[in-house]
Amino acid sequence: MNALARYQRISADRSPARFMIAKNTPVDFDRDAALSDLWKLHDDAMSQFNKSGESDWLDRLDKPNNPNKSEKPDEPCEKSLLDLKIVIADRILENCHFCDRRCGVNRRKMGTMEMREKWGQEKQGYCRAWAVSRYSSEFMHYGEEPELVPSHTVFFSGCVFSCVYCQNWEISTNPDLGMPILPEDLARIAAAKRGLGARNLNFVTPTPHLHTILRILAAMRVNTPVVWNSNMYHSIEAAKLLCGVVDVYLGDFKYGNDECAKKYSNATHYWDTVTRNFLCAYNDSEILLRQLVLPGHVECCTAPIIKWARENIPDARFNLMFQYRPTYLAYQHPEINRLLTRSEEARARELLMEAGWG
Ligand code: SF4
Repeated sequence: MNALARYQRISADRSPARFMIAKNTPVDFDRDAALSDLWKLHDDAMSQFNKSGESDWLDRLDKPNNPNKSEKPDEPCEKSLLDLKIVIADRILENCHFCDRRCGVNRRKMGTMEMREKWGQEKQGYCRAWAVSRYSSEFMHYGEEPELVPSHTVFFSGCVFSCVYCQNWEISTNPDLGMPILPEDLARIAAAKRGLGARNLNFVTPTPHLHTILRILAAMRVNTPVVWNSNMYHSIEAAKLLCGVVDVYLGDFKYGNDECAKKYSNATHYWDTVTRNFLCAYNDSEILLRQLVLPGHVECCTAPIIKWARENIPDARFNLMFQYRPTYLAYQHPEINRLLTRSEEARARELLMEAGWG
């Protein structure tokens, strides 16, 4: 089967992106309500969304004058499921738990550079991102998987990981780099890129910027598949907000155990977090799983990842990647301070073939 069948339909404009449906799913809520009440409304709305989201949307498209379903898809309802997700994301930002580090800091209080300096490092979250998101670049990317190119990629600044071999370390380690994002502006840029042939809108290192991404989508007037290009270390709450919004989870599955995750990315409880999020993504939408093969880590990382994925998310598209280069701080770890050998690459391919992928 085609693991990305729905994505292909959205990309060809034959189906609505999920955020378009969420934007046209009415939900009545009080934005000042308790967070627990907002979650309850969200979960009820998501049940309805999962039952009949697309068919309801298409029904309204076919019958714009239907008295029971009077909202046209291109005329957003007064309060929508997407609006509710934005309100919840804003609350999370004030006690940040977008990722599973769950720092609990109020990222709004770091409103200016002066305040950040005054507050000091200890009041910042691990990623040091504040409320205003920045991006270092946005462009038509031709180097992603064939199904995705050309892909309109938006590279956000900062990251919740600290991978010692990060190829984008200038961006990932500096959340203050790049342009501050005005969601309406980025939505306009995304619409223009879609008009130029972009097959999707691809958010890279998106996790600390979920609140901004939801706002960008709320401002979008153009149908395009949304790609969540991440390390899959988001929190369970973030995973719930992503449901009904993301069309393709372009997820890195880096490590087959917690020890390697701690050593190379300073991430704790990695396996449980990432497998939980892949399962949630699998139930929600479509997955393109990336596994960057690390030198000396075929048996401890690649093998268990392939095994788990085969058993738990068999319809995902699995992409083994062999382009590892020892960059950034990899020189401090002699065991990964080299390229892959041919035999390691062959062994990884063999594991994938044995699992029935490839
Ligand atoms: S997104 Fe940043 S501030 Fe928020 S929990 Fe993760 S590391 Fe901490």
